[in-house]
Amino acid sequence: QVQTPVNFIQNIITEDLKSGKNNGRVHTRFPPEPNGYLHIGHAKSICLNFGLANANNGLCNLRMDDTNPTKEDEEFVESIKADVKWLGYDWQDRMYFASDYFEKLYSYAVQLIKAGKAYVCELSAEEMREFRGTLTEPGKESPYRNRTPEENLDLFERMRKGEFPNGAKVLRAKIDMSSGNINMRDPVIYRIMHAKHHRTGDAWCIYPMYDFAHPLSDAIENITHSICTLEFADHRPLYDWLVENVDYSNEADGRPHQYEFARLNLSYTVMSKRKLKLLVEEGHVTGWDDPRMPTISGLRRRGYTPESIRDFCDRIGVAKASNLVDKALLEHCIREDLNKNATRAMAVLRPLKLVLDNYPEDHEELLEIENNTEQEDAGKRKVPFSRVLYIEQDDFLEDPPKKFFRLAPGKEVRLKGAYIIQCNEVIKDEQTGEIIELRCSYDPETRSGLPGSARKVKGVLHWVSAKHAVPAQVRLYEELFTKEQPEQLDSDDDGDFRANINQNSLEVIENCLVEPALAEATVNDRFQFMRQGYFCLDSKDTSTDKLVFNRIVSLKDSWGK
Ligand code: ATP
Ligand code: MG
Ligand code: MG
Repeated sequence: QVQTPVNFIQNIITEDLKSGKNNGRVHTRFPPEPNGYLHIGHAKSICLNFGLANANNGLCNLRMDDTNPTKEDEEFVESIKADVKWLGYDWQDRMYFASDYFEKLYSYAVQLIKAGKAYVCELSAEEMREFRGTLTEPGKESPYRNRTPEENLDLFERMRKGEFPNGAKVLRAKIDMSSGNINMRDPVIYRIMHAKHHRTGDAWCIYPMYDFAHPLSDAIENITHSICTLEFADHRPLYDWLVENVDYSNEADGRPHQYEFARLNLSYTVMSKRKLKLLVEEGHVTGWDDPRMPTISGLRRRGYTPESIRDFCDRIGVAKASNLVDKALLEHCIREDLNKNATRAMAVLRPLKLVLDNYPEDHEELLEIENNTEQEDAGKRKVPFSRVLYIEQDDFLEDPPKKFFRLAPGKEVRLKGAYIIQCNEVIKDEQTGEIIELRCSYDPETRSGLPGSARKVKGVLHWVSAKHAVPAQVRLYEELFTKEQPEQLDSDDDGDFRANINQNSLEVIENCLVEPALAEATVNDRFQFMRQGYFCLDSKDTSTDKLVFNRIVSLKDSWGK
């Protein structure tokens, strides 16, 4: 497993270990809400939390933060587990659900009530907003604030029993209505919600708020370093207040502390489950795992490797100020990986027929071509060659400009791993004038490996043998959004991010022809199609009688350019 490079949180941990805080324990957690699929931003948090635990001989829990029954689902729980595993991290036997703590959390709320630190409030949502005040104006106390513990206890029990409708009452922590921090102005900690929960069913009709459940779940699990994104910095005083005012009778040393880091924002995409969900539900993409999505499942289907994503998370580092990371860096990471590790192959996306008139009719031969020159032991594969071939349509121009080094009438090129050929005649469709075939000749002395192959020609083209090639569909992807920043950074406002959707983000090319070895490809293989980019089989739409390839990324690297 990977080690996370030194960052400011590691520095805090190093200090804590030195001073003996938490008795030398390091225990982190990754706490997703199962209300959608994980995205590349979550990958950053996963690498950070599991990475810090690994690097410090600590533990990392996987916790489903499932306290909001109307949005959560088993499907999301399963996808989260699969994605974390695929990224290469192991929570071992430490998979937890906040919903398993409902009874405990309830008892903590009762504790606060008994201590006069929480009360049942009946202000409407609108009134509560009014009473809360603003940054420059202190809040007003609720008329229900001075209920006795007995009265509060009775009402809270009846809330649990289901005596009141949604929204009729809430439980609030009694802290400080004049606090400079609005989160401390008697925050709501429980609400009534008559809704079925994906795990606890109808057992509960009151549910704890995130700000209440989260710190106390950390406390229950003996977490030492609770790492979250910057927007929770303002919630930290409430986090501290709760873990200090609730007696959670924890046997472990110390108590959890919250630390904030900048969330990942990536150019040309949006990064919130809610927005990604809209893309799925409105049919802008084919699903959460659409290869254009920034989800982990989308990146996996697109052909990204876990190594490349971990490498990306290492390189972006962990900062305290939010910024926009260039998508080109993510692509650079997968390109580096694939340049080293992907098998080379030839695929013709838009075929043009080419006949070698002087090549014997029924003859064929197997040419040996390197699998990967970046790797000494990658070996060679045999590629069949015969009289009728296909090359790429745009590798031929009838009337070429000066520096065109591909094929043209009377010109020579080398066919990769094969012979030097010359174009002698162009055959066109009589009706349309479209070029349908090239008549060429080959020079038998120039086969790769023979002495005659030393003759220099500028262009090297990829090709397939007509008799042996296998048909395939190829999918080319562009960015899902036309704007580098399709939404306000860190905003929860839908704005017009949907107006910035790229209508041409997918190009499907039918009737491509690929070399026969690719018929044996499996979904875990990744290829460099010569001169075209890196490709993998689509794990969903490929079937026994149809090969479908996704372009993972093109060859051209724009990182740092
Ligand atoms: P989203 O708004 O995308 O749904 P979230 O924060 O609501 O994200 P959670 O399921 O609560 O989603 O996130 C689980 C963990 O992942 C949290 O600790 C959160 O801070 C972290 N996380 C979420 N998005 C990012 C991001 N873009 N960059 C880094 N960490 C993130
Ligand atoms: Mg969240
Ligand atoms: Mg969210």
